[in-house]
Amino acid sequence: MDFSLSPGAADFRDEVRAFLDAHLTDEIIATMHRTGTFNDKGFNGALADSGLLAGAVPGYGDRDPIELYVLFNELEKAGAPYDGLAVTMLVAGVINAVGTDFQREHVLAKLLTGRFNCCLGYSEPDHGSDVAAITTRAVRDGDQWVINGQKMWTTMAHESDWVILLTRTDPDVPKHKGLTMFLVPMDTPGIEVQPVPTMATERTNATFYDEARIGDEWRLGEVNGGWSVMGVALAFERGVMGGTNPAVPLLRHVRAWAGGAPSPDGGLMIDDPLLRERIARTAIANQVSQLLTLRAAWIAATGGLPGLEGSMAKLYATDRYQQAVGWFQQMAGADGLLDFDTDGAAADGWIDYDARHSPVTTIYGGTTEINRNNVAERHLGLPRAR
Ligand SMILES: Cc1cc2nc3c(=O)[nH]c(=O)nc-3n(C[C@H](O)[C@H](O)[C@H](O)COP(=O)(O)OP(=O)(O)OC[C@H]3O[C@@H](n4cnc5c(N)ncnc54)[C@H](O)[C@@H]3O)c2cc1C
Repeated sequence: MDFSLSPGAADFRDEVRAFLDAHLTDEIIATMHRTGTFNDKGFNGALADSGLLAGAVPGYGDRDPIELYVLFNELEKAGAPYDGLAVTMLVAGVINAVGTDFQREHVLAKLLTGRFNCCLGYSEPDHGSDVAAITTRAVRDGDQWVINGQKMWTTMAHESDWVILLTRTDPDVPKHKGLTMFLVPMDTPGIEVQPVPTMATERTNATFYDEARIGDEWRLGEVNGGWSVMGVALAFERGVMGGTNPAVPLLRHVRAWAGGAPSPDGGLMIDDPLLRERIARTAIANQVSQLLTLRAAWIAATGGLPGLEGSMAKLYATDRYQQAVGWFQQMAGADGLLDFDTDGAAADGWIDYDARHSPVTTIYGGTTEINRNNVAERHLGLPRAR
């Protein structure tokens, strides 16, 4: 594969960087961490108005698909609120791949304005990794479907206009064969959203569906074909749309801190040989993460679904991120345990934040163990884990 960006993609990256210089303010970043909502509709709308969002829908239009990777990689490295946008564009890609004309007209067109959001309703309280075992029921009633059940970890549900909802439509067939996906308007009567705070500052939600009734026009894909729709969605989620360079902002904050913080041994922290080695190792890991991500993006750009390569990129990046922040917290001592709001916090609280955020990244979007199984079985040819 060719790791270099095409001239068009390189120009696009420059445009994204110029946009970030002009629009990403400290206030936007502070608000995202204060509220736990990693989404900013004004920022997303400005991105769309600048013409930078149209290329961000997987498989849509005639833009270079590598732009998808470029956009989210730059947003992530800059520390911008992009989680809500990434999920929304992921859903846009799924609609583009398997949606109907109605869904393109009524949803996809709106998502491209940056002013509407979608969320993912897969996980349930008792079914996360084994998501094919979910029990939320959708029962057909004429031209409508009636939905009952509960979802867990529906991040951005409180910001969203639609949820893509994985439901069970046939309980009497093997679990993967009885699932159907819907695109459910969040203002449907019978839907309730309850906040779930996390240690990582991000807010997520529990969502409840009580006799929620929608028309068949909101079905995404075939009846009992939900598992193949999941395959498309997961291939986009892992590796291509951010989440694989989380230690880049961390490293930027640590270097700024180390350049001014006194070392217990005299001089500055940046003079400490162990810290310098750890900074270098983290910079190398960041580069490897970027290349693994680019490989997944390149496969997507050439018509493939990078399920395996996305697993590799996500696994490596989140594992190294957790290791790096552990190192920096050790080096910072007690000051590395202080948060954004506490005077004297190392790196203005970013080390503490990343220490709380990094474990979560090894869970959502597929846990480390599940991704290791994926690599072991599909790449190394080892026996199935179960
Ligand atoms: C902050 C946050 C945001 C999230 N956002 C969303 C969202 O927007 N939408 C959504 O649908 N979901 C979301 N999730 C859910 C996430 O995808 C699940 O938490 C994840 O898939 C794990 O499922 P679980 O929590 O049920 O854990 P479990 O599946 O119960 O796993 C528990 C432990 O067992 C391990 N394990 C499970 N099965 C195996 C196996 N076969 N082999 C080896 N180890 C195994 C897991 O790796 C884990 O360590 C989010 C989660 C978090 C924490």
